[in-house]
Amino acid sequence: MISVDEIIEKSFSKEAISSEEALSLYQTDPYSKEAFMIRWAALKQSMELADGLAEIHAQIGLDSGPCPRNCQFCSFAACNTKDPSVKRRETPLKDILEYAKIYVDQGANLILLLSTEAYDFDKYAEICGRVREAVGKRTPLLANTGDLTPDRAKRLKDMGMDGIYHAARLGEGAITEIPVETRLATVENAKKAGLKLSTCLEPIGPDHTAEQIAERAQMCMSWEPLTSGVGRRVAVPGTKTARLGMLSQPLNALYAASYRLTDHRTKLIASVHSELMANSGSNLSWSEMGSNPRDTRRKTESGRGRTVQEIKNLFSEAGWKVRKGPSPGWTD
Ligand code: SF4
Repeated sequence: MISVDEIIEKSFSKEAISSEEALSLYQTDPYSKEAFMIRWAALKQSMELADGLAEIHAQIGLDSGPCPRNCQFCSFAACNTKDPSVKRRETPLKDILEYAKIYVDQGANLILLLSTEAYDFDKYAEICGRVREAVGKRTPLLANTGDLTPDRAKRLKDMGMDGIYHAARLGEGAITEIPVETRLATVENAKKAGLKLSTCLEPIGPDHTAEQIAERAQMCMSWEPLTSGVGRRVAVPGTKTARLGMLSQPLNALYAASYRLTDHRTKLIASVHSELMANSGSNLSWSEMGSNPRDTRRKTESGRGRTVQEIKNLFSEAGWKVRKGPSPGWTD
């Protein structure tokens, strides 16, 4: 069997990594010498691919649950909403525009508008247009909303959106009420409408096997996203999956680094905010404001959300420079 050392050599030569080889990377003991070699190689490759530049993307949450799609890991899911009197809450437009202005001023490289599946699509599309007017043409704007028909994808493009964030989550269709096929169709519809893709292999828990991770990594790469990521599931208190716990950072770092070594084209790989991740090849982090499905606070900036400056400091501590100006590739 080919050794981890040899797989790393193949990766540096930009040779295709077979599924068996990829699986052996994901199966590596996260505390072994080989795991540190994988993480070192991933850091070196990310630095080369991205010219030593990390990016900070910004998420603005437009509403909070209850959401009928019932993703068991999400604080907005109706199935995780204990109080039956809780009503959906929407971030007022003036706050959304204010958040967008703050992010432009702070130097976020891209802005994403997040909504639950319960958000009225016409209203969502209108808000996309208002944010586009507010931030000007240069800032890449991404949509992260319900699944898209061809018509809806085209509407978002017409409203000035450059791309979407979209994922086929681990356990899709089993621990969510959205069939995987629907998620795949959204990717196709978005691409046909000229929207680019940001994705992530998520949400990973300690209950997932290396085989599941390797298989889903293959799916993510097959979509040829502009940015990708490897993210652990947040054990949000009160969610059905919280009792399963969280992946350790060394294991998340191993998975992200293994993804890096098997993907020779995606320049930016997102992960949790930490120097360990940044030193294992993860060069994209998300700042969050407004509602957030990974938080129980109404405004995540008072909870788990991090400011652009905090993430800049983290990348700087880890030896990365942060890109100034818009994230490239979205508006080309
Ligand atoms: S992850 Fe999205 S679709 Fe699923 S319950 Fe939460 S808001 Fe709804």
